[in-house]
Amino acid sequence: MASYIGPAEILNKKRKYLIPCVYHFYQQPMQLVRGQMQYLYDQTGKQYLDCFAGVSVVNCGHCNPQITKAICEQVNTLQHTTTIYLTETIVNLAERLAGLTPGRLQKSFFCASGTEANEGAALLASIYTGKHEFISMRQGLHGRTKLTMNLTGLSFWRTDTNPMGGISFAPNAYCYRCPMHKRYPECDLACANEIETVIQTATSGQVAALIAEPIQGNGGIITPPPGYFKRMKEILDKYNILLIIDEVQTGFGRTGKMFAIEHYEVEPDIMTMAKALANGTPVGAFTARPEIADKYTRPGASTLGGNPVTAAAALATLDVITGQNLPARAAELGQHLKNGLLRLQEKHPFIGDVRGLGLMLGAELVLADQTPAIKEIDIVLEKMKDRGFLVGKNGPNRNVLAFQPPLVITQANLDDLLNHLDDVLSSL
Ligand code: PMP
Repeated sequence: MASYIGPAEILNKKRKYLIPCVYHFYQQPMQLVRGQMQYLYDQTGKQYLDCFAGVSVVNCGHCNPQITKAICEQVNTLQHTTTIYLTETIVNLAERLAGLTPGRLQKSFFCASGTEANEGAALLASIYTGKHEFISMRQGLHGRTKLTMNLTGLSFWRTDTNPMGGISFAPNAYCYRCPMHKRYPECDLACANEIETVIQTATSGQVAALIAEPIQGNGGIITPPPGYFKRMKEILDKYNILLIIDEVQTGFGRTGKMFAIEHYEVEPDIMTMAKALANGTPVGAFTARPEIADKYTRPGASTLGGNPVTAAAALATLDVITGQNLPARAAELGQHLKNGLLRLQEKHPFIGDVRGLGLMLGAELVLADQTPAIKEIDIVLEKMKDRGFLVGKNGPNRNVLAFQPPLVITQANLDDLLNHLDDVLSSL
């Protein structure tokens, strides 16, 4: 039996050697030591059902053998060169992505994270349009570098003490707490229409792009109603503003389609990806239509981006996702979980709202009058963890339970999760 330093010593070393911004869950955290498909194991051998997948990363399951095999083969053959030398994995991956991404998106740049993908996409939008302002959505999250943090509309994740100019925020499609104080469908998508007012009042008219997640993940699984992105795109086209869709958290089958924007039948101008693209091996990408991509001709490089190992991991991941039709599985199991959560909502007034698509679902916990149940959610998370279920939390008030499990989870696992959640909510 392997020996581990244990959670107390990890916390000691973390305090001593990690910058304190490195954030973790749980009052009494465990040490995770092993993963196998939808399960994780701690230092005592205790099994957890992973209902968060490392924030939508391991869509194909932890240590998926098909992906692990591809990684090992590549590590043992050619681990790293940069893009100054020709290798075939990176172009094969780009070709593969071109076949999967919506519409005319075709040319990719590979990097190593979602943050970098968004940073690169924003740069490309400026290069192509010759414009430099951006519009972002309230409650959106796009990364942790200077620009991407400033594009982030959640103060919890904004720590830049000297915010940038040139970024304007538009109200998001948060129907449960509508920023326009209206109801769908009578609202006629007032929040989308408001983007035009933002363009006309908050910008100089020199907007390169609007960036948005199709479903806001960290923002609280904010799921816009049908027609929302079509209306948004019409407005943006009128002002020659590009649409950057951030699929970092929603991509690769998570929501029941390969990419979440496909639910809205809109073609982005640039799309960004990371997380599940290589099932936990660090790779990010931004992909654009050829006429946009072709304007980026000055030399660009990412030392580690899309290197042979991460590209091989991504290719194997895409084989699993398409070969096993994981998007369809997410749609079916997601509906099952959503129905279960809706049943729990009838029983427990703590659940104010259930939303999301596929296996990207949120349950917003509230007290009377919709006040966010901030203390209670931590109790729920801790108790669920003790019972062997790792659930996420997010939203501007951090009161939304997030269910984003590996897509290889089973219906029996979900029933188990629902039963335990029912008990825990009853105990509050
Ligand atoms: N965009 C979205 C939608 C995200 O959820 C995240 C990470 N939570 C990022 C970008 C940043 O990705 P990374 O952590 O890989 O830099």
